[in-house]
Amino acid sequence: MGEEISNKQVILNNIVKTSVKESDMSLRTSKIQLKIPSGCDGAVLVKNLYLSIDPFIINRMRPLEGYYIASYTLDSPISGYGVSKVLDSTHPNFKTGELVWGFTGWEEYSLIKDPILLFKAPDKDLPLSYYTGILGMPGMTAYAGFFEVCSPKKGETVYVSSASGAIGQLVGQFAKTAGCYVVGSAGSKEKVDLLKNKFGFDEAFNYKEEQDYNVALKRYFPDGIDIYFDNVGGKMLEAVLSNMRLHGRVALCGMISQYSLEQHEGIHNLFNHLITKRIRMEGFFVSNYYDLYPKFLEMVVPLIKEEKITYIEDIAEGIESAPRALVGLYSGRNVGKQVVVVARE
Ligand code: NAP
Repeated sequence: MGEEISNKQVILNNIVKTSVKESDMSLRTSKIQLKIPSGCDGAVLVKNLYLSIDPFIINRMRPLEGYYIASYTLDSPISGYGVSKVLDSTHPNFKTGELVWGFTGWEEYSLIKDPILLFKAPDKDLPLSYYTGILGMPGMTAYAGFFEVCSPKKGETVYVSSASGAIGQLVGQFAKTAGCYVVGSAGSKEKVDLLKNKFGFDEAFNYKEEQDYNVALKRYFPDGIDIYFDNVGGKMLEAVLSNMRLHGRVALCGMISQYSLEQHEGIHNLFNHLITKRIRMEGFFVSNYYDLYPKFLEMVVPLIKEEKITYIEDIAEGIESAPRALVGLYSGRNVGKQVVVVARE
């Protein structure tokens, strides 16, 4: 028998129908053995270091038909992306002492029985927390969504919503490296300043201060938008469709403006704007692009090291802070990638 120690966990208390509250989650202390139980082949036991707080988590707090991933079980720890250290392994790909990122639990220690979404975190020169963001799932999402789905060309006009967030800040910077004109929107003056002064967007605006999104978009794109990287959906998506150029591309990455609504808003202008202008609108999941991860790292690591690309994180300390950090995503409290530190290495 291995040593049994206490394991703080964040569990889901009830199904979340509309907006998520901190009281929908609670902290529990259970026990775990720091050794993989016998008969558990192909498993990895990890100490969790950083949790990635992601908008999709609310969608798993309710039954969702046709969703790509299972809903959470009540009274069980929430799961999501994180960065961890391997304490024990019966899996041939992972060794004790290695640092990994991928699917884990919102708890101090996790027994990952089937580590299908677990990658090594090899680069020791960059902050380890980057594997929750620029070097992890959000980085891959920005890369796949922008380069693979949108097929950008030099000189094209690009619009990014939720542009200062984990994914948006990278899409904007990738668009600049591709020689595009890029405009971002975000929900505060602080975020708009970051877009223009830190991430190098050509223009940026606070969507919360705009009465009419259509007017705002015409101000920044008098000749229309070639590429829209959509993180928010809803009314913004509808306004963007009216401003697309012929043969434009819309990458549907996420729709955070809809996640807390029981009735989702509809889009009404598809004939006029998609058919007549022959727009390609494509939803995508990062999970279908992980075979490109090595190629992505080859591109992004030198860009970070040469300081051609930058990344902002919003770090919350302690596993206790995870519920508050999650709730903050849906009101825009996070500035940059929301990370929770469970333990430092
Ligand atoms: P994020 O932008 O770092 O954080 C969420 C941000 O959303 C908030 O800071 C807030 O910024 C904005 N927001 C919240 N409520 C909003 C509303 N009602 N209307 C407009 N904006 C709102 O999150 P992220 O991790 O980069 O994710 C961005 C999007 O990508 C999400 O929709 C997510 O679900 C999606 N996603 C998709 C994939 C995929 O594979 N397709 C993978 C990961 C994430 P403001 O202050 O600017 O409002």
